[in-house]
Amino acid sequence: MTKKIVTDLDVAGKTVLVRVDFNVPMNDRAITDDNRIVAALETIKYLIDQKAKVVLFSHLGKIKNDEDKADNSLTAAGVRLSELLGQGVAFSRATRGEELESAIAALNEGDVLLVENTRYEDIDGKKESGNDEELGKYWASLGDLFVNDAFGTAHRAHASNVGIASHLDSAAGFLVEKELKFLGEAVDNPERPFVAILGGAKVSDKIKVIENLLTKADKVIIGGGMAYTFLKAQGKEIGLSLFEEDRVELAKDLLDRAGDKIVLPVDIVIADDFSNDANRKVVSVDEIPSDWQGLDCGPKSVELFADVLKDAKTVVWNGPMGVFEFENFAQGTIGVCEAIAKLDDATTIVGGGDSAAAVAQLGFEDKFTHISTGGGASLTYLEGEALPGVEIIADK
Ligand code: AMP
Repeated sequence: MTKKIVTDLDVAGKTVLVRVDFNVPMNDRAITDDNRIVAALETIKYLIDQKAKVVLFSHLGKIKNDEDKADNSLTAAGVRLSELLGQGVAFSRATRGEELESAIAALNEGDVLLVENTRYEDIDGKKESGNDEELGKYWASLGDLFVNDAFGTAHRAHASNVGIASHLDSAAGFLVEKELKFLGEAVDNPERPFVAILGGAKVSDKIKVIENLLTKADKVIIGGGMAYTFLKAQGKEIGLSLFEEDRVELAKDLLDRAGDKIVLPVDIVIADDFSNDANRKVVSVDEIPSDWQGLDCGPKSVELFADVLKDAKTVVWNGPMGVFEFENFAQGTIGVCEAIAKLDDATTIVGGGDSAAAVAQLGFEDKFTHISTGGGASLTYLEGEALPGVEIIADK
């Protein structure tokens, strides 16, 4: 990687500001999944061992009013971090001013301070999310060095990543380094055959990903809700399935340009209602009745996809193959997951979001080479777009 990483900085005795991604799922103000905190530990522990004074910044949820503030405090994350580190973690309830500044001044080497949710600053005019110049400069003035380890927000230019990094010598943390290594190598320097599997709801959300991966992958499997716009573009009846009329021409154009590089489902699990308990049957893609909708890829599609995947050396997967939240329509997603998990000799990458959740739900986490922690950021990367939070980091 051409960007500096945390080991390139001389951090001993320095106040190091670290942007982490503690945007953890919460229920009733309790953390329901601490994976993101665990993912940041390597960088934090390294900085503690190197005798830095560690100041952590993160956002949590969206903040529009005082109720959001109460629901999205990082207090619980601080407690969890302290348990995971086995040492105390100081907490500043203030995101600026006297309380924050004295908490930082009180730090000794190896101490850790967590600052309250950076998006508390959004209440008064989106200062954090809008990358307010004054705020980024102020936060930067509180430390000597900056480390960005928040891959999940790297696709956004906020005051707590791009803002701070504009004013301090900076580096990527170990998590960001790992994400870029796996996603970067898979997309830009893949061992071939390289197969991409794209699913999810809409073509419109993933146009750029499809277009970019068509230039890089040997095969692009398209499943999920977005497959129906492609099937319609081939002149098929798709009934009440998810459909984006304004993307049919684009789908036709992609099919013309890509030839047999695009692999579509050959059979579909259809339903007479959008619900788990709907009546369902498996039909060929040429036989979808006008009053039914496709909610999952059928067994022959899974077999076809598994066949395309079997010799792959690099696989990137983003988006479920059907409405996997409904148990009765999860088999397509499970089947693809199993087919990828079987590939011992391939680099297999899950690009965050729903597909990462599906892998975790199935207990297949160990079977993949890398599961990205950032849905939006990995999609941006798969689109071939730069990540502002990474771009701003100093070069080696
Ligand atoms: P995305 O966020 O674009 O990856 O889309 C994920 C969502 O797509 C999930 O909530 C799925 O339920 C939904 N989805 C997948 N296949 C279909 C389908 N055939 N019809 C409707 N929604 C679908």
